[in-house]
Amino acid sequence: MHWTSATPSMSVGEFETIQRFFRRSLPARDDVLLGIGDDAALVQIPDGHALVTVPATLSTADWDDSHGDGARLGRRAMAAAMNRLAAAGARPAWATLALTLPETRAPWLAAFSDALFAVAAPLSVALIGGDTTRGPFAATVVGHGILDADGAQSRALVRVDDAICVSGGPGNPSLDDVRADGQARMALGQWIRRRAGAAADTGDGLGPALAGLLASGNKLGARIDLSRLRAAPTPCQPGEELNRRGDLQLCFTLPDAGDAAIESAGDDSRETWTRLGVVTDSGVLECTRSDGQIVTLPVHAYQGAAP
Ligand code: ADP
Ligand code: MG
Repeated sequence: MHWTSATPSMSVGEFETIQRFFRRSLPARDDVLLGIGDDAALVQIPDGHALVTVPATLSTADWDDSHGDGARLGRRAMAAAMNRLAAAGARPAWATLALTLPETRAPWLAAFSDALFAVAAPLSVALIGGDTTRGPFAATVVGHGILDADGAQSRALVRVDDAICVSGGPGNPSLDDVRADGQARMALGQWIRRRAGAAADTGDGLGPALAGLLASGNKLGARIDLSRLRAAPTPCQPGEELNRRGDLQLCFTLPDAGDAAIESAGDDSRETWTRLGVVTDSGVLECTRSDGQIVTLPVHAYQGAAP
């Protein structure tokens, strides 16, 4: 592991790290009763609502992918957790951060925390606590969101003939450089829920997201057209385009979705989405690849993708 800060700098202590880089007052939320600085965070959940909690972890593999770039890792840590809240159809509210670093360097911490807050602030998400430890790099953001009573009671179902969709238009899906569209993604997640669809985040790749959705039914399969995705940057093995990590999109199913290849989720979300195919009862993934070749892959190949 190496550090990319251009200038050598002094290591900062844990207390100073928290005070300087993570204890920020923005955005102010009056539902945070106790936040950073207290032994435990305490938040107020509105009456009749449920709390949704989703962790997202970055490890040394993510460190290596980004060459230790603090800004990219900070953005991704927060965006991955927020994307999972979007998939749950939740309203984002709070986050905690568990951060393990081999060494605490001010320039890296500044880049990391600025990027983290740049994702959280437009969503009005407050960082309410965390833990800072020494060791090989790991960062876990736990996102906390709120679901209304209706959302909390209905479990999203996937059925044969549902449309399979992915957020973002062709040529568009990439959140590696997080766009200022967190709000739209949240609105899309809530819209999917209202439309009785089921959603999963694609942080581990489209294949695992789709497999997770299909696993909620018995022997469900899918027929999807991968030529509707943006072109793969380099030629890849069959199915590999389904495994690419990094794209933070929502993969989702919708009943009665019609046939349009690209649609937008209406007024409440300007997010566009691409229809990739349909849920089947075949138990396998039939994929038309970008070169027109059709390949059949077992759904379980993507289930419980190993780290
Ligand atoms: P403790 O001794 O209880 O572990 P810490 O010194 O680790 O306390 O933390 C002090 C306060 O700072 C706590 O409120 C904790 O939630 C918060 N905190 C620690 N690390 C982080 C972090 N990386 N991001 C946000 N809050 C943090
Ligand atoms: Mg601690």
